[in-house]
Amino acid sequence: MADIISIARGVFENKKADILIGYTKATSEGRTRPVIVRSADEVQNLVLNSSCLNNLATYLTRKENKGKKVAIVAKGCDIKSIVQLIAESQIKRENVYIIGVKCNGVKRSFEGEDSKKIAEKCLNCNVRTPHLADETVDMSDEGLTGKDEKAELIEKLDSMSAEERFAFWEEQFEKCIKCYACRQACPLCYCERCIADKSMPRWVESSPTKRGNFAWNIVRAFHLSGRCIGCNECERVCPAGIPLSLLNRKMVMVAKSEFGYESGMSADAPTLIGTYDLKDKEEFIK
Ligand code: SF4
Ligand code: SF4
Ligand code: SF4
Repeated sequence: MADIISIARGVFENKKADILIGYTKATSEGRTRPVIVRSADEVQNLVLNSSCLNNLATYLTRKENKGKKVAIVAKGCDIKSIVQLIAESQIKRENVYIIGVKCNGVKRSFEGEDSKKIAEKCLNCNVRTPHLADETVDMSDEGLTGKDEKAELIEKLDSMSAEERFAFWEEQFEKCIKCYACRQACPLCYCERCIADKSMPRWVESSPTKRGNFAWNIVRAFHLSGRCIGCNECERVCPAGIPLSLLNRKMVMVAKSEFGYESGMSADAPTLIGTYDLKDKEEFIK
């Protein structure tokens, strides 16, 4: 199978896209970073390995890329974001050329002990073979292993009383410094003006206060409910180490168990939030 450099070269030579979003080596040892390539002359520095952690789909909705045909290197979990963006009419399928990555998992982090473990999202992945792609590329399998510690924590939170759960999240959200890295990394946080930035009226306090932190994190979780595709970029980039995946994964589980819906799997299926069904359960809002 062709490697990422020859595939990227083919994209430009055959005029399949105007730009290509991929990965290149970062200056720090063992890291990669996103890169935008604009011609066949620039493809030689592209890389693809288990350190390619970023979900590049977040760049598809950026203003500077609108109106362009964009090629993108995307693992199955990243493709879920692309599918969701198409389903939510944010991008058009014909404007994106997907180089799908056959993937056996990425590292949990760039450095420390976590760089030797597989990311938790990879342990129960159902899209190791891309479910939407124009062509595919193999990423080498580095035999990463690890345990899903978050699954145990989700069970523990489920067994708590509402008051205990509230206290748990209050303690976690107190660490938030309102940097909004979670929002910037999220492929589905694409509002041109976020509610957190609105000042007339100000819905969410901008300084990192207890009340404002709670409001911000809960508002974001609800805006992502039934939409989050579980790429875990928000948690990975959070400098405060807040376990946001506990919240997001629980929302994904509820969407599946209560409504039989999994976001990012089909661009043609009606979206959960945008669809009303008389048979929808209502017990949870009583
Ligand atoms: S979640 Fe799946 S597609 Fe995404 S990096 Fe892990 S194994 Fe690969
Ligand atoms: S909320 Fe987090 S896990 Fe969900 S799509 Fe956004 S970045 Fe990915
Ligand atoms: S990335 Fe973490 S610290 Fe920054 S705003 Fe999001 S939750 Fe708060």
